[in-house]
Amino acid sequence: MPERPVVTRIAPSPTGSMHIGTARTALFNWLYARHTGGTFLLRVEDTDRERSTEAAVEVIFEGMRWLGLEPDAPPVFQAARANRHREAADELLARGGAYRDYMTAEELEAERETARAEGRVVRSPWRDIAPNDAPDRPFVVRLKSPLSGDTLVADKVKGDVRFQNKDLDDLILLRTDGSPTYNLAVVVDDHDMGVTHVIRGDDHLNNAARQTLIYKALGWEVPVWAHLPLIHGPDGAKLSKRHGAQAVSEFDSMGYLPEAMRNYLARLGWGHGDDEIFSDDDAVAWFDIVDVVSAPARLDWAKLNHINNHYIRQAQIERLTDLVSAIHSSRGLEVSSEARPVLERTIPLVRDGAKTLLDLADSTVFILGRRPLELPEKAATLLSEETRARLSRLSERLAATEAWDVSALELEIRAFAESEGVGIGKFGPALRICLAGAASAPDLAGALTALGQDESLGRLHDALSPAA
Ligand code: GLU
Repeated sequence: MPERPVVTRIAPSPTGSMHIGTARTALFNWLYARHTGGTFLLRVEDTDRERSTEAAVEVIFEGMRWLGLEPDAPPVFQAARANRHREAADELLARGGAYRDYMTAEELEAERETARAEGRVVRSPWRDIAPNDAPDRPFVVRLKSPLSGDTLVADKVKGDVRFQNKDLDDLILLRTDGSPTYNLAVVVDDHDMGVTHVIRGDDHLNNAARQTLIYKALGWEVPVWAHLPLIHGPDGAKLSKRHGAQAVSEFDSMGYLPEAMRNYLARLGWGHGDDEIFSDDDAVAWFDIVDVVSAPARLDWAKLNHINNHYIRQAQIERLTDLVSAIHSSRGLEVSSEARPVLERTIPLVRDGAKTLLDLADSTVFILGRRPLELPEKAATLLSEETRARLSRLSERLAATEAWDVSALELEIRAFAESEGVGIGKFGPALRICLAGAASAPDLAGALTALGQDESLGRLHDALSPAA
């Protein structure tokens, strides 16, 4: 039989945030689909009507967009497919693969106790009763699971995992109100969407056994399973609030670039030798699901920062300027159209040291100061008579400087220090405060270059003028 073209999917439940584990699962599905020339789909598992608000669904779309993992077809909404799920349950009833279970709540409770006492799973007496004996009362529809043998989940990450059928109860497919249960909905949706590879968190490994039974009962081809280990915190414990960010949106607001996230997340549980930094194209070419390791992956902030720094250094200045402007503006500092070119020329001067876009915002905020800058307290001590006089002389020299760029200004400052017979340390800190106030700034030549000649001289002049 010819291999079916690969179809993968991410199937998040809208909870109001998109967990980083979901992002990683989405990425692996996306990579595998791209690697095989297949299709990557998105299904919104919105059957919990209370949580699945429009805003919660939007969070998922937003997260996927931000990560750059767009699905190849419009999303499927699970809740809208309840009729189709019921149809599949009816088909199973007709094929004898499922039955109506009329146990009352009391009967079920009694059976639960007996089953517990006998060390077995719950079995309904209605399994083997012909439908024309049916009483007129509410029922659930249950899968008629095999009583013996085992169910194999041949998992691409976990290896072969076998489940004893006697330990799997007849799982409910439709509740008394006719609503489909989770496992039925997932199987029917995955089948109808043509999903060939189910790649998801290993918290669903047990469901894979139950879902396998549903596939078989319906006579459908069972997909390839790949259950990914969870992401743990740096200390090896399950990722939780105390480890810092968990939601995709938090990584965004902490100033991580989506391409850095993709690169970093790809390495959580998968890798290509020791390659730390690789492009999407490389990852697509190299990725194979069988290379995913089964041990939990640990979030490593230092590595993430390192990778983010790499992509910040590579990014287009235009784009960084937009992103950093947005951060300044969210902090109440609008970047005017006059300030924008200043920001554009400052970013290349400071980005090497930036781990995140927030760092980049912090290290460029000095250009947005308005004259006269408010100087921090230590300015009084730093700006002694002697230093003021020295900075005035420097100011004159800078006013005459023609080439205004980092290397020319470095030479200029060094030459000035020499001519004064002092080290740069004698006036550097004071100069920096005159130029940047309390804000952090790049080295002196960088700060001067960023501000430009007029603004630099203006700021120096303000700081050296006697207080009004
Ligand atoms: N909706 C499930 C979750 O968010 C995913 C189910 C699946 O991938 O099969 O955990």
